[in-house]
Amino acid sequence: MSENGYDDVVSAGVSFTLTEEQKMIQKLARDFSRKEIAPKAEHYDKSHEFPWDVLKKAQEIGLTTMAVPEEYGGMGLSLLEEIIAAEEMAWGCSGISLAIVINNLSALPVVLGGNEEQKKKYLGRLVDGKLAAYAVTEPDAGSDVAALKTTAVRDGDYYILNGTKTFITGATVADWYDIFAYTDPSVPYRGMSAFVVDRDSEGLTVGKPFDKLGQRASDTAEVILENVRVPAENLIAKEGMGFLLYNG
Ligand SMILES: Cc1cc2nc3c(=O)[nH]c(=O)nc-3n(C[C@H](O)[C@H](O)[C@H](O)COP(=O)(O)OP(=O)(O)OC[C@H]3O[C@@H](n4cnc5c(N)ncnc54)[C@H](O)[C@@H]3O)c2cc1C
Repeated sequence: MSENGYDDVVSAGVSFTLTEEQKMIQKLARDFSRKEIAPKAEHYDKSHEFPWDVLKKAQEIGLTTMAVPEEYGGMGLSLLEEIIAAEEMAWGCSGISLAIVINNLSALPVVLGGNEEQKKKYLGRLVDGKLAAYAVTEPDAGSDVAALKTTAVRDGDYYILNGTKTFITGATVADWYDIFAYTDPSVPYRGMSAFVVDRDSEGLTVGKPFDKLGQRASDTAEVILENVRVPAENLIAKEGMGFLLYNG
């Protein structure tokens, strides 16, 4: 073993050089950042409005669907490529970058664990121009994801969801949410499940965006679930798979 371990990694054949495709993605995001994001950064940071015009342009060139596999209409890229693009966009404005890339994070649980129907329906909506959000955090569960209090109780062909999510990026503009909830609250981590929940579900309300000190171009708000009836077919993968589908 070498002193810092780095030489071993290099001699094991791991390359830290970007591939031609990764360089192309980097350039696409860098050009977008300089041309479309940076000139608007000050306006959206001050106004605290959602940067719809920039989002629409990002959608047109695929930056909100990088994680969506090609067969569902996305770019089919890996997390590394998403991070390369996010870094370039954050150069222009970290808030606008977050507003764009949250859609890729939101796609992931469906990409990883969703069935064919869920992928067609929900990834398809992203490709068709809708936005999504990813709701894990709660007032008493931030870093400690196992402390979630949101529950999902099976009731025939539905699950009844109750709980409060907070700090949810894109909450006010999302068409659907990944909601992480306990189907078995007696089992930390393994009792957690993930659901796709439609924005217009009865009992789901979204708070006003928080007036933050930073990242002001990206909206961050509460999502409140009060007896929300979610079709059982919206469970992603199986009960108990929630923590494995969590990518925080
Ligand atoms: C702009 C913004 C956007 C966000 N978007 C989303 C989103 O889209 N979806 C979502 O689900 N959440 C989102 N979050 C929430 C984010 O994931 C949480 O803020 C994060 O998980 C930290 O949780 P917390 O704020 O409760 O801090 P805490 O968990 O209370 O942590 C506070 C501090 O204590 C430290 N700490 C915590 N536990 C330990 C430990 N065991 N040992 C040592 N140190 C520890 C942490 O590192 C941190 O410095 C967002 C937050 C922000 C600020």
